[in-house]
Amino acid sequence: RPPRSTLFPYTTLFRSVFRLRTRELMVVAAFISICYGLMLALLIHLRPEAVDLRLTMLRWGAITVILLWFALMGGYISRLRKELKATKSAIEDMAMHDELTGTFNRRYLMETLQREKSRCDRIGAKFCVCMVDLDFFKVVNDTFGHQVGDEVLRAFSRHTLQGFRGADCFGRYCGEEFMLILLDTTREGARIKAERLRSDTEKLAFANLPPEVKLTTSIGVAEYRPGEDIEETQRRADAALYKAKEAGRNRVELEAVAVAE
Ligand code: GH3
Ligand code: MG
Ligand code: MG
Repeated sequence: RPPRSTLFPYTTLFRSVFRLRTRELMVVAAFISICYGLMLALLIHLRPEAVDLRLTMLRWGAITVILLWFALMGGYISRLRKELKATKSAIEDMAMHDELTGTFNRRYLMETLQREKSRCDRIGAKFCVCMVDLDFFKVVNDTFGHQVGDEVLRAFSRHTLQGFRGADCFGRYCGEEFMLILLDTTREGARIKAERLRSDTEKLAFANLPPEVKLTTSIGVAEYRPGEDIEETQRRADAALYKAKEAGRNRVELEAVAVAE
């Protein structure tokens, strides 16, 4: 196999050719055919005795047909390439995002947790996991219907995303439970951000709910401890969420921390 450096110009050329559309490829094919025809005409003019006219015309015709066929095929491949690219990006998008809310999905959240764990074990940074559960959401569904419930989930996600841009990662863990991963954030910093999310949510007005109906959230916060399994951090965030529910909902609870810390 030739080394990459030898192949490189050709692969680049091929890739560039398949970027062209059918019409552009037709123009290139016509240009090559005309140049070749002119060259043959010059040859016939300068050295008629050396040229078999019928064979030359046949060759020119064959080359022109092949060039046109290549232009059509090239245009087809170019279209396929574009469709493939669009499909690939749609699939990547679907693999990362939750269909209903457009926030990150559980798979992406878990990947982020593993990635952050590796990063923090390596460089000693901190990150926090917040489990966010909507309070009495079943009542919203039971009273206003599942579709309204879906719309509320979407609106809640939209508002929350606006508040957490950049490095933070917010997604739907399952059902009406969301996860917020706060990077380079200590437990105390996470408590402040979670508290802001809680108080912003209770102030939200939903287009399809009566104004007196308020949505509230309970949030459990845990900080990753270097070297532990990510499931351990999640378990502590879940326990803190449970504590928030037990304590009356619409509140933020931090994980239990040993006195020595
Ligand atoms: P709690 O305060 O204890 O969390 O009460 P809750 O009613 O929110 O909790 P529970 O676990 O009893 O019910 C969760 C509800 O969330 C039940 C289910 O119908 C609703 N839910 C889960 N996923 C979806 C969804 O995708 N769309 C809608 N509309 N509702 C959902
Ligand atoms: Mg709930
Ligand atoms: Mg729940």
